[in-house]
Amino acid sequence: MKFQIAIDGPVASGKTAVGRGVSKALKWNFLDTGVMYRAATRSILDSGISFEEDSTIIETVKITSIEVESSRGSEKILINGIDKTSTLKTLEIDRAVSIISKIPEVRKELVRQQRNIASQGPIVMVGRDIGSVVLPEAALRIYLDASVKIRAKRRYEEQIASEDKLSLNEVKVDLERRDLIDTQREDSPLSKDDFYTIIDTTSMNLEDVIDEITSIYRSQF
Ligand code: C5P
Repeated sequence: MKFQIAIDGPVASGKTAVGRGVSKALKWNFLDTGVMYRAATRSILDSGISFEEDSTIIETVKITSIEVESSRGSEKILINGIDKTSTLKTLEIDRAVSIISKIPEVRKELVRQQRNIASQGPIVMVGRDIGSVVLPEAALRIYLDASVKIRAKRRYEEQIASEDKLSLNEVKVDLERRDLIDTQREDSPLSKDDFYTIIDTTSMNLEDVIDEITSIYRSQF
C-alpha cells in the first residue's frame, strides 16, 4: 500500500513524535494506536472491572466508543463522546495498559478499528504490531529503537511537570517492565522482525529521524 507507513518500537523510542512529524511532512493522516489501548484501559479502570475478568473486559472494550480527533499537530481522544485526553498518559494507565493489551480479543477489536481508520486515506500509524499485523502491506515498515538509558531519560524529562513524578531509575524499571510484557505476550508481540527497516535513534534528534524516514519513502515511491 503506497500510502501507508507503519512505525513500531518499544516504550519511549520516539514513535509518536516521529510519526506525527512524518505525517505532517507528507500531509497524511496520523494514528498513534497506543492511545487506543490507553483509552480501552481507562474505560476498564473507570468501570471498576477487575483485571481477572477477561470476558467483562472484552465486552466493555467492544461497546466503548474510542474516537481520535486530530487537529493542528495534536490529538484529542474521546471515550464514549467525552474528552479523556488528559487522563491517558498517567502512571496508573502506564502500569495497567500492557495487561489489557495482552488480551487477544481486545487486540482483535482495536485492530479492526485501526484498519477502518487506515481505509480512510494515506496514513502514518505507530504502535507495536502495525508492520506485523495491522498494516503488513504498508509501503514502509520502520522499527524505531534506542538504548534503554536514553529512552528512560526522555520519558523522565517528559514527566517533569506531572504530580506523580518518578525518579529516573523508577522510570527505567517501569519502562523495562512494560517492554517485557509487550515483547513476551503471545498475541502479536513487539518483535524486531527482518522485514523492518531499523532506525536506532539513540544519538539522533527528532528532525533527523523524521527526515530520514521521509527521504527513504520519497526515494522509493
Ligand atoms: O505507545 P504507548 O506507550 O502509548 O502504548 C501503550 C501500550 O499499549 C503499550 O505498552 C502496549 O501494551 C499497547 N500497545 C499495543 N499495540 C499497539 C500499541 C500499543 O499493544 N499497536
